[in-house]
Amino acid sequence: MTQPALDFVIAALEKIRETNDHLPRASTTVLARLQCVSPLAVSLRGTPEPREGGPETSGFPKGRQLQPAAHGKAELLAPIRERVRTCTKCAHLACSRTQTVFGVGNPDADLMFIGEAPGVDEDKQGEPFVGRAGQLLTKILKAMNFAREDVYIANILKCRPDTVPGTFGNRVPTPKEMQTCRPYLVEQIEIIQPKVIVALGAVAVEGLLGMRGTMRELRGRWHAYNGIPLMITYHPAYLLRNQAPSEKRKVWEDMLQVLERLDQPISERQRNYFL
Ligand code: URA
Repeated sequence: MTQPALDFVIAALEKIRETNDHLPRASTTVLARLQCVSPLAVSLRGTPEPREGGPETSGFPKGRQLQPAAHGKAELLAPIRERVRTCTKCAHLACSRTQTVFGVGNPDADLMFIGEAPGVDEDKQGEPFVGRAGQLLTKILKAMNFAREDVYIANILKCRPDTVPGTFGNRVPTPKEMQTCRPYLVEQIEIIQPKVIVALGAVAVEGLLGMRGTMRELRGRWHAYNGIPLMITYHPAYLLRNQAPSEKRKVWEDMLQVLERLDQPISERQRNYFL
């Protein structure tokens, strides 16, 4: 294909992607790979059937899906980060934010955590989960024998939800804001292709799966996002509000399931945390 024709196809697919949540679909992974043009850079390979039908599919015939190469995921994420950085889809958030908060960690990570939205600290620093809740998440990771650099951390919303000036605390993202921002996260997941996703709290679940429920019904068992095993657990902010060891243990049991799913060794000491 000649470059102008390719540009035309890419622009058309991007337009469809932005304006339509239905088929035909083309992931930005595919779009980025089309930009690379080299047919050798694109590998067609069979993929296993999804465990459970998630809300996102590639639109390609089952069992034949374009996969990003194991290397170059950071390069594939870079243009999305740039689009997020200049995003004005939610004009009110584009005005109120200090900066966008794209995501942090290892693009090749097996494990990805998804939170709600940046808070005041994240908005200031441009990195997810750096405030009090984030410090607790970092501790949970440590207990799992992971550093922040080993996993990938992102949010449903890339902008801090605006609040009335002079007020304290965070605002829950609206369904419209989540729907608007969700495609960026979908692209991040498509590129990173983690083996396991952890959704932190009910808002993250709603943003990712479009499903509402109480944490009591949702947490502690396996769900799936587009064929990727998804564990739902409490948001660390919940643990800051409710310091009961029983609640910490619930989150820890969820993380033990994650470690098992990732075939990570678990010591006896780890098994007994918060008992
Ligand atoms: N809470 C979230 O859900 N995400 C952050 O990045 C910080 C706090």
